[in-house]
Amino acid sequence: MESKKSVVSSFDVDHLTLREGLYLRSVYTINEQLAVHSWDLRFCAPMDHAPLDSGVVHTIEHLMAYYLRLDEHIGGSIVSLCPMGCKTGFYLSTMNDVTAEQIRAALAGAYKKAFPLKSKEDIVGLNEVQCGNPGLFAVKSTNEAMAAYLRKLYTREEAECEGIGSIYNSEL
Ligand SMILES: [Zn+2]
Repeated sequence: MESKKSVVSSFDVDHLTLREGLYLRSVYTINEQLAVHSWDLRFCAPMDHAPLDSGVVHTIEHLMAYYLRLDEHIGGSIVSLCPMGCKTGFYLSTMNDVTAEQIRAALAGAYKKAFPLKSKEDIVGLNEVQCGNPGLFAVKSTNEAMAAYLRKLYTREEAECEGIGSIYNSEL
């Protein structure tokens, strides 16, 4: 069967072979001037695992939207962070001056600042004024999902160098 090139770049990815990781998915040029990069923060291999729980998706959205913007290298270049509707990961849109290595480091930095979560109080913006559904969150399973994702990006040695060796600790 001939496959059609789609106007949605993620539809051109073979989701049967896609693994967990961090990928540059597409480059959008807005008004032929402004290049925006769309990164695929893939937490779950499609079809291979249960997708993320909705509470986990919402919690990571809140934390990463906030803490990645505090990163000294990429914070000012972030356009948006959005959950994938299929709940297997997130899209991070940045200006075109951001590298994958900088994003990896920013994710580790965010992890160091925010994780492991101890209670709902650690989830920034989770209240009726700032959020549409503050009852939707998860603490323990978000700790597990975030550590599992970072284990895909960092070996044990790299994680220890980066100060996030606890991602390899099963007692999160
Ligand atoms: Zn929310």
